[in-house]
Amino acid sequence: VIEIKDLTTQFGDFVVHRDLNLTIERGQIVSLVGGSGSGKTTLLRQILGLERPSKGSVKVFGTEISRADRNTLQEIRNRWGMLFQHGALFSALTTFDNVAQPMRELRTLPEEVIRDAALLKLQMVGIGPEHAQKMPADLSGGMVKRVALARALALEPELLFLDEPTAGLDPSLSDSFVELIRGLHRELHLTVVMVTHDLDTLFALSTHVAVLADKHVIAFGTPEEVIKVQHPFIEDFFLGPRG
Ligand code: ATP
Repeated sequence: VIEIKDLTTQFGDFVVHRDLNLTIERGQIVSLVGGSGSGKTTLLRQILGLERPSKGSVKVFGTEISRADRNTLQEIRNRWGMLFQHGALFSALTTFDNVAQPMRELRTLPEEVIRDAALLKLQMVGIGPEHAQKMPADLSGGMVKRVALARALALEPELLFLDEPTAGLDPSLSDSFVELIRGLHRELHLTVVMVTHDLDTLFALSTHVAVLADKHVIAFGTPEEVIKVQHPFIEDFFLGPRG
């Protein structure tokens, strides 16, 4: 699904990634971890086609993302969904309209189809129709996350990006959100790429972990494999005060 080869990302003289390699296969749930400033966000931006490689290649669904023409890029974008850290719902739109909006933007689906699909997506994340007309401000934090997830699933993506999915949720909400993601991953055959600092979330969800340090991916494997790799960041992150 994602194939990154010998990627170098440079801002002026500042090198963020040097000869970075990473392959993410269909069905994997990959957690991207790394210290502050290690280049996680920039790597996601590369995958999303928002940064251009200084060297190397980033392929998504087999297409070199930085060279894709407008139509191809749009097709690819319709095949992924994103959940941003702070939910990122449109505050002026109802719950229902937030989920319907990506479908309306396609301009090809009749409103009845959108209606059924949006309610179904809300149901999949455990939000009943009684909440459909509520505004985001009237929802709890946990519900906002769920609606944002329903929105990310609106176009039935194959690939889902999660940025700190459980940040700001208390432990029980966090656990139920993790369960929800796990169920959706299985049911919808998703490939998931997430950035997380939360070890519970990481261990509960990840099939694989990619560790970013020293400007590239220093370790990739199952969580059990990765924690055995000897590197100061890995020892600190997995076995440090929190571990
Ligand atoms: P954090 O966990 O703190 O969010 P991160 O791993 O996501 O960090 P990035 O945001 O990818 O790290 O940033 C990596 C480095 O690249 C940082 O030092 C940042 O200042 C630098 N950087 C990112 N974008 C740009 C840019 N457009 N121009 C110049 N430098 C940039």
